[in-house]
Amino acid sequence: MPLTTYWLEHAWLGTHAEPGVALDVSADGRIAAVRTGVDTPPPGAAVLRGFTIPGLANAHSHAFHRALRGTVQVGSGTFWTWREVMYGVAQRLTPDSYFALARAVYAEMALAGITAVGEFHYLHHAPGGTPYDDPNAMGEALIAAAREAGIRITLLDTAYLSSGFGAAPEQHQLRFSDGTAETWAERVSALEDREGVRVGAAIHSVRAVPADQLSTVARWAEERRAPLHVHLSEQTAENEACHAAHGVTPTRLLADHGVLGPRTTGVHNTHMTDADIALVGSTSTGTCMCPTTERDLADGIGPAVALQKAGSPLSLGSDSHAVIDLLEEARAMELNERLRTHIRGHWTAAALLRAASADGHAALGWEDAGALEPGALADFTTIALDSVRTAGPVPRLAPETAVFAATAADVRHVVVGGRTVVEDGAHVSVPDPAAALTAAIAALRS
Ligand SMILES: [Zn+2]
Repeated sequence: MPLTTYWLEHAWLGTHAEPGVALDVSADGRIAAVRTGVDTPPPGAAVLRGFTIPGLANAHSHAFHRALRGTVQVGSGTFWTWREVMYGVAQRLTPDSYFALARAVYAEMALAGITAVGEFHYLHHAPGGTPYDDPNAMGEALIAAAREAGIRITLLDTAYLSSGFGAAPEQHQLRFSDGTAETWAERVSALEDREGVRVGAAIHSVRAVPADQLSTVARWAEERRAPLHVHLSEQTAENEACHAAHGVTPTRLLADHGVLGPRTTGVHNTHMTDADIALVGSTSTGTCMCPTTERDLADGIGPAVALQKAGSPLSLGSDSHAVIDLLEEARAMELNERLRTHIRGHWTAAALLRAASADGHAALGWEDAGALEPGALADFTTIALDSVRTAGPVPRLAPETAVFAATAADVRHVVVGGRTVVEDGAHVSVPDPAAALTAAIAALRS
């Protein structure tokens, strides 16, 4: 089988950075061999100067929220006032305009070194709730967008049935609803995994799926052995409403209906009791932290340290896309804890990279990505060590510390499944992602 060889100036091998590594990639898009101690590039090898890490996994995305960036930073408000603006954008999207927007957003992700996205997708139907001719037209638009942008996608097709604990959806939520979890499951069952694509499930929240229908979604995910994500305790108001409706916390409610488990990820997990944390940990349910969104929306700081100690693997997501920068998400998790505890060093750079890659991929059903090792998918990202942000002797001695200083702008090269997606900081198949973003967002406003 033909091989492509890459020579990596510095490579992250899971526990340490290794200088001079040759990576052989086979024609099936997987890593065939990792050779260390290769001081100079072998003849014919593609040379990647800088620090090469496994591709980054953005475990929580709502692509259309990117259209809000810049428009929601004036004036005051809360998560709930922000949500009204977000609903306004949601009303205008069609399968074509969503494809154009998502293609540009996913290209922005590729430029940030992201090789897999978990798209938490609930914008299913035409305005008013009428299904499209293909009831999965919006989901297919997202899949096509990811393919054009060159990244993997896990479409976390989301059940969203209620405006709150059984109440009928409001006008702008009609697009989200399939009516019942049974009809949600029927629609989603028509979606198939394919090259670069995984289909997973999501429960929007305990607000949006009535308690007696939670197990239908959980069972669908169990039968498909698919990832299952759920927004969990992002807001104290959700906890209070859940208590009023059911007398328990959202975490307890999910546990009682079979939602928690090792293939499940709670997104945010911000406002949790000690018992909630113990439940999430003891069931090996994952936690997806979205620190830039959580701070943007004034949500609060989630108990990531306690959750991880209890047994919950951590992943990271850019969620509302206030910024798209997984390196920033990773360090923000650590820096938030420093602010809260007045103590430094909760996670090492290695642990942050693990959340940003291996554990993020696992949360999205890509267990064979997130490591530079033989047999793994050949998904990797090279970060410059000679930019104004990363230059200096220390980064070359301990390149993993780049996670504390590098930004998305330092990503130089991205390979997904052995295919180059970003070369010298430019997207290969989307010529001008900034122009594409401008055009796609302007089209929604006209
Ligand atoms: Zn979200």
